Amino acid sequence: MAERVIPLVDQRVRALAAAVPARPIPATGTLRDQLGRPLRDLRISVTDRCNFRCNYCMPKEVFGTDYPYLPHAALLTFEEIARVTRQFVAHGVRKIRLTGGEPLLRKNIESLIEQLAVLRTVDGQPLDLTLTTNGSLLARKAKALKAAGLQRVTVSLDGLDDAVFRRMNDVDFPVADVLKGIDAARDAGLGPVKINMVVKKGTNDHEILPMARHFKGTGLVLRFIEYMDVGATNGWRMDEVLPSAGVVQLVDRELPLVQLEPSAPGETAERWGYADGSGEIGVISSVTQAFCGDCNRARLSTEGQVYLCLFASRGHDLRALIRGDASRGIEPATEEQLASAIGQIWQGRSDRYSQLRATMAPDEGKGVRRVEMSYIGG
Ligand code: SAM
Ligand code: SF4
Ligand code: SF4
Repeated sequence: MAERVIPLVDQRVRALAAAVPARPIPATGTLRDQLGRPLRDLRISVTDRCNFRCNYCMPKEVFGTDYPYLPHAALLTFEEIARVTRQFVAHGVRKIRLTGGEPLLRKNIESLIEQLAVLRTVDGQPLDLTLTTNGSLLARKAKALKAAGLQRVTVSLDGLDDAVFRRMNDVDFPVADVLKGIDAARDAGLGPVKINMVVKKGTNDHEILPMARHFKGTGLVLRFIEYMDVGATNGWRMDEVLPSAGVVQLVDRELPLVQLEPSAPGETAERWGYADGSGEIGVISSVTQAFCGDCNRARLSTEGQVYLCLFASRGHDLRALIRGDASRGIEPATEEQLASAIGQIWQGRSDRYSQLRATMAPDEGKGVRRVEMSYIGG
């Protein structure tokens, strides 16, 4: 077996300065990047902390008790997040996903949701406002989240077997409590609740069928995600990836499936319905099938950096523009300047890592420091 090397790295690399362009770029909702892709989806990370230590995301060896998380003053405030988001929405964003780290650990997250829920898309529609959580605090918080204006939640759940689940979250958290959280979310009206299962070959692939059987016919949508080479700390290896085609084959053998149309352009999940009409599953093939061609997602990190790709190594620092930075001669930006800066960042985007990965030699890109999933969210 190949030796696994888990490097000790600081996930934060120096950001690229975001600048206000000389010629304004008004927010008209028609922005396109270098490859003609619109901006539709914004994922906002509200904390870099988490109460789980999933090995594929925040391995304990790296994210130990002495890990230097961001100090509170470095985080964007809720008002700052809402202000930036308003400009993203004016540029065409329709879908917002709050994530992290574990987003429900951020104090009073309901207040941010309230501020985002009142925003309207360029054509006057409410935003699709969702949140991805590990579910540990959901039983307690579901009702308040709904009352604040959240529409849906996605819950990450990597298995039903308690021992497997405890091993994967690596903090001995019982699966029953996440299942209670999922019920609470459904009862609070945060549906259709989606369940995300990261499949790691040899670790939890034997949980695929039990998960499919459990959620079939419940109205919840189970999605299987290929284990990805995000970040630099999880010691990723291709031989631990179970291609989605294999997942579909496995489920189909016992619970026959038919392929469904994608729900929206840029949708990451391929949809499969149960032939007996009792619901659907999804597969997200981030490794074996590149979907960069219509990727319309931007990510805002906890401290206000815009990342244009999950696999980017550097973000664009919007916080300096929002707050101003006298030491660098940066004045706080007006709303128009902020919109122009975001416009310029998106217009310069040509990222398509998953497409390029397919043509890379196995060692290519090794040593390039990439941002961690827990820092910019999934
Ligand atoms: N803590 C929350 C949670 O787990 O749902 C939100 C943040 S988490 C980074 C977002 C999603 O990324 C989760 O569904 C998680 O399973 C997924 N994820 C993290 N690392 C991954 C990896 N290496 N490959 C595939 N998915 C990953
Ligand atoms: Fe935490 Fe989510 Fe990462 Fe697991 S996947 S360590 S729950 S941020
Ligand atoms: Fe989008 Fe980057 Fe993923 Fe391609 S690799 S789909 S550009 S986030």
